[in-house]
Amino acid sequence: MPDFSAASLLDVPAFPAEGFGPLADRIGRLLGTANDVLLVQGEAVIALEAVASSLAAPGLTALNIVTSPYGAWFGGWLRRGGAQVIDLAAEPGLPVAVEQVDVALAAHRGVGLVSLVHAESATGILNPLPEIAALARRHGALLAVDAVASAGGHAFDVEALGVDVAVIGPQKALAGPAGVSAVSVSARAWERMTEMSAAPSALSLPYLRESWLRAGRGALPGMPSALELHALDAALGRVEQEGLSATIARHARAATATRSALRALGLPLWVPTAQASNLTTGFLLPETVDPAAFADAARPSPDITPAVGPVPARLWRLSHTGRQAGREGVLATISALSAALARSGHACDIAEATGAVARTYG
Ligand SMILES: *Cc1c(COP(=O)(O)O)cnc(C)c1O
Repeated sequence: MPDFSAASLLDVPAFPAEGFGPLADRIGRLLGTANDVLLVQGEAVIALEAVASSLAAPGLTALNIVTSPYGAWFGGWLRRGGAQVIDLAAEPGLPVAVEQVDVALAAHRGVGLVSLVHAESATGILNPLPEIAALARRHGALLAVDAVASAGGHAFDVEALGVDVAVIGPQKALAGPAGVSAVSVSARAWERMTEMSAAPSALSLPYLRESWLRAGRGALPGMPSALELHALDAALGRVEQEGLSATIARHARAATATRSALRALGLPLWVPTAQASNLTTGFLLPETVDPAAFADAARPSPDITPAVGPVPARLWRLSHTGRQAGREGVLATISALSAALARSGHACDIAEATGAVARTYG
């Protein structure tokens, strides 16, 4: 644990009201967009619920791609708002296939919204976003993307892709706080939200637009969390200092190092590199390993966890996200993994595995 004093978090000065606009502008630059950027005070799941609540309306047909529990929740929020939702589930734990999306869009007339998660921390997969974005555009549908586990770890360019609504949280690759999030909204998407009341609601993007953006981007509605906003400021500063492309490259390298170590340990990778997240790597526990013994042995390591959602029982994941995406972080995780495997019945050569990491870093 790094040097940390909880007491130093007390008596934090207020975040200056004139600082909110610049924070949003910096997030816009990170996302490659001049679209409106709204700050949402709350973890990213709340921003996602706000997006679904604001877009949903009777008469909207949405093609909601489901590759993890996040996608399933998003569909539920759209339905609650009166939208007709076609849930398009991928094979368990896998990315959606472009052909599946193509077929679904051809089969259902008048789809007005396509929604998906870009990279999944739940399983370590990456959905084929550029191809899906092109399909959505061809069908005239809005595109809403959960980029929480991709921003800072993968190229994610809102304007180039034509993403109408993008949700990010700073707590993954950007290595920032979990309690404040951001949403970018295109002009097209605002037009479709005109039905939504701008009455006070933490889940209404039109309300945030009225009460903050159109009011000159001063004080945020409600009580601004100084802790979270200062931390967001610092996290953005650190990414800007490193350079976004270097932050992405660092995550890609951590993924490469992790994958080569898994190969050295004889563990099957869940998906090929082209379908893999740079933040999280999925692998299958060998049949020779007792899952309960492995779970016990791996428990002390927060970066070794079972996959989440309706996935194969032996699918596990290694996180190399944020500050963990570097030589030391990957070495620590691979050492812990090797030790946990050895203790649960899988003979493995720890030196081979750590050597593979070292070779990736040169
Ligand atoms: C982490 C994550 C979120 C946000 O989850 P929180 O619990 O709000 O941090 C949303 N979507 C994806 C794909 C994520 O990986």
